[in-house]
Amino acid sequence: MYKTIKDLDLHNKKVIIRCDFNVPIQNGIIMDDNRIVQSLKTIHYAISKNAKVILMSHLGRVKTEDDLKKNSLKVVAKRLEELLNIPVVFVNHTHGKELEEKIERLQPKEVLLMENTRFEDLEGKKESSNDEQLGKYWASLGDVFVNDAFGTIHRGHASNVGISSHLESAIGFLVEKELEELGKLNHPKRDFVVLLGGSKVSDKIGVIKNLVEKCDKILIGGGMSYTFLKAKGYEIGKSLLDSENIDFCKNILSKYEKKIYLPVDTILTDKIDEEGIVKNVFIQNIDHELTGVDIGLETVKKYSEIIKNAGMILWNGPLGVYEIDQFSQGTRKLLEAVTNSKAISILGGGDIVAAALKFGYKDKVTHASTGGGATLAYLEGVALPGLKYIAEKE
Ligand code: AMP
Repeated sequence: MYKTIKDLDLHNKKVIIRCDFNVPIQNGIIMDDNRIVQSLKTIHYAISKNAKVILMSHLGRVKTEDDLKKNSLKVVAKRLEELLNIPVVFVNHTHGKELEEKIERLQPKEVLLMENTRFEDLEGKKESSNDEQLGKYWASLGDVFVNDAFGTIHRGHASNVGISSHLESAIGFLVEKELEELGKLNHPKRDFVVLLGGSKVSDKIGVIKNLVEKCDKILIGGGMSYTFLKAKGYEIGKSLLDSENIDFCKNILSKYEKKIYLPVDTILTDKIDEEGIVKNVFIQNIDHELTGVDIGLETVKKYSEIIKNAGMILWNGPLGVYEIDQFSQGTRKLLEAVTNSKAISILGGGDIVAAALKFGYKDKVTHASTGGGATLAYLEGVALPGLKYIAEKE
């Protein structure tokens, strides 16, 4: 168990909280404020303990001067003010006198938001490459540090690992909840069923390797399934192929033949848009001119049966091109099966959470993670850099 914000003395302290305010913004409007909302519990707690609250976050990528305008956190500060119902001091700098003075003037229970940490990437990628001086400088602005940005916990950036290497540090409530929920996978209820989809095999190799021994069944769908089918010698037409990983698929299939399930039928189309044809065929009959875009109805039935007997389900990556209605059936029907089952259900962030939100299932699962890449890293069993300098509790 890591130290949490509750283990820190916050009274009158300058508390730096690294949040994940990386929200989608279009034409200056926040399209989904879920990440801001999820951060409130930790911020409220710090305020209640008379902390002087300094918030930091990244927003998008910053490579050009243009990105500075596009990726300012100013709109986030406004939304935060509405949600917290108190003024938020926004500083449109990431270093310098104005920032330092405004922090010095901060009173207990007041909240300040610094500009996008990745503004420091414009010259020399200082934030993303964890520049030693930058981490030290940001740490000098506070007394204690709280990492509550699960979405970037798998990254070693100046605004997480950099700061925490110089200050007494803890995790916030959001990170604590993520680790607690994902931690359940280490003591799985049987059957432990893993659903894997999404576009690339390469992204999931580490997860498959780490989970194949721990779980009872892996059900494969999505773009990645066609590389597995190719490895078994099937014609896959114009479907996605990760040719570099055919051998990996062959090896893992031969070793775990009984554990890894592949689609028995698939939806084919001639073009991946609303006008494309929809053809359900068994995998022996894939047309070489067409593209596989979803699992077929037989596979939906087969996978749903397996889900019924699951005690725990982990799902990463959609089973088809769920963004287009007629190719979303597999993902939708399996979400229905998962949420109808009595199993503990965990969605591993990214697109499968977006799909669950879109089809109305997000609140029906046990846990929908806020971090796609971070969850994958956790599931691969690798050390998470954002936690490196956060002490474990005795
Ligand atoms: P990932 O980021 O690897 O989880 O992949 C998510 C993306 O995979 C989504 O945008 C889906 O549209 C896409 N996807 C799922 N199934 C397929 C498929 N059969 N062909 C192409 N893309 C797919």
